[in-house]
Amino acid sequence: MMELKSYVGGKWVAGTGKHAALVNPATEEEIARASTEGVDMKAALSFARDVGGKSLRAMTFRQRGEMLRAMSKAIHAKRDELIGLAVQNGGNTRSDGKFDIDGAWGTLAAYADLAAELPDGHVLPDGDGVQLGRSPRLWGDHVFLPRVGAAVHVNAFNFPAWGLAEKAATALLAGMPVVSKPATSTGLVAHRIVELLVESGAMPEGALSFLCAGAGDLLDHVGGQDVLAFTGGSSTGQLLRAGKGVIAHSVRVNVEADSLNAAVLGPDVEVGSDVWNLFLADVARDVQQKTGQKCTAIRRVYAPKDRVAEVVDALKERLSAIKVGDPSHADVTMGPVATAQQKRDVLAGIDKLASAGKVVFGTGADVTPIGGQKGKGFFVSPTLLVCEAPSAADAIHNHEVFGPVATVMPYDGTGARAAELVSWGGGGLVSSVYSDDKEFLAQAVLGLAPFHGRVTIGSSKIAAQAVPPGTVMPQLIHGGPGRAGGGEELGGRRGLAFYMQRVALQGDRAIVEALAGRRA
Ligand code: NAP
Repeated sequence: MMELKSYVGGKWVAGTGKHAALVNPATEEEIARASTEGVDMKAALSFARDVGGKSLRAMTFRQRGEMLRAMSKAIHAKRDELIGLAVQNGGNTRSDGKFDIDGAWGTLAAYADLAAELPDGHVLPDGDGVQLGRSPRLWGDHVFLPRVGAAVHVNAFNFPAWGLAEKAATALLAGMPVVSKPATSTGLVAHRIVELLVESGAMPEGALSFLCAGAGDLLDHVGGQDVLAFTGGSSTGQLLRAGKGVIAHSVRVNVEADSLNAAVLGPDVEVGSDVWNLFLADVARDVQQKTGQKCTAIRRVYAPKDRVAEVVDALKERLSAIKVGDPSHADVTMGPVATAQQKRDVLAGIDKLASAGKVVFGTGADVTPIGGQKGKGFFVSPTLLVCEAPSAADAIHNHEVFGPVATVMPYDGTGARAAELVSWGGGGLVSSVYSDDKEFLAQAVLGLAPFHGRVTIGSSKIAAQAVPPGTVMPQLIHGGPGRAGGGEELGGRRGLAFYMQRVALQGDRAIVEALAGRRA
């Protein structure tokens, strides 16, 4: 049995006591075990701050960019092996595994590229300076400097590779050392990535620490220069925000949580047009990809009232082409959900949604998996519901079913009503609107925008090259208000701000500008 260790204090450390089991969700076979019991969390944080932080702050942005490039290459070199682990431990098809792993090295590479545009120094100027006195001699300016603490990253089970890398890329480029914790159940991929990164020698000692199982009392030891970035369920997010150390030291917290992402079909979209096909492809992909376990997956689908039947028929046709089974078989296009608990939650969630709508496609847990054994593995059928009379109070607008499930609902065809319905989700990561009608788009997109971190617009001129709403781009921000956690990650240079202290400098312009790195 493979035993997964934690990487703290510059060495691999085995946990003691009761270990958590990591299983293959297609077969339920145990493949590894992990524990962090006995790991000294306080010492792990101190080592990151004192050793890793010091080295990172001595590096310029450009040097940190070179480090990220080397990290990206180390992951890319073992892409195939990592995809295999994602199939084994995540229930991922190879295509799902690529989505996660390519996202990991791709985001590191994107931040390495960004570094080349930053100053070859240690201070990041922010905006323009401003005259404060009677003469331009008295000057004010803003700069960012890395926080002198550790960045604690707690990640969700669905993207063990990307989750680790996207957070680490921004923190390390900003100059903060990382203490990263994957979700235990799917930690195998993250564990192998950290092994590869340590072996590569890409990072200075202490720049990346790794806790492979529970966080123990880690959050009791965070201080005022540390930050906490969390991805996972809302209730866990609330618990971490309320942590003793977090509250006592006003620790900066970023939460990426649940999201009831929506897709809105405009009334102008003709059946069979490029935009129609784009809309259907986006919805069907989000049911199937990662077995619907994507924070950005479309959960709610709004179509003009007179189009609902056509949308449902077209989606049923696409969902019936999904081949559910053991993802190690080449012809399988959708694997199981990640854990037994996930399966229970998804099935209970479908029942909840069905209290407000009707299941029109799907057989729940009654699945005969390709290449698998009926009754074994955490398989759930792709599922489509229809809700004829949506209301703000129903489960469809309040409960995230983190699995291969979407619900179609009618609206009156106006952009204003579409935006209102989407806003009932209480704040989301991303929603998409499909139309070529400028007036409709203005009402729908700008109406739902305040409730989201990102809105994608599917129109005919970009249909052939559109990036799916479920794909998080490192250049654009990822996060959303309300239910989605109120956080913001990535967004190119914007992502660095979370890990840095913005400070105003005021004084003699020559001195201020020299300190800000604006003049030699
Ligand atoms: P989860 O149960 O909330 O767990 C998330 C992480 O928190 C795991 O690493 C978990 O560790 C850790 N954790 C749990 N309790 C903790 C505690 N008391 N102290 C410290 N850490 C603790 O969520 P999940 O089931 O992994 O992920 C599914 C959820 O994440 C969904 O709701 C989904 O919407 C959300 N999600 C959001 C985004 C986004 O970007 N907004 C992305 C992906 C997923 P253990 O595994 O060791 O318990």
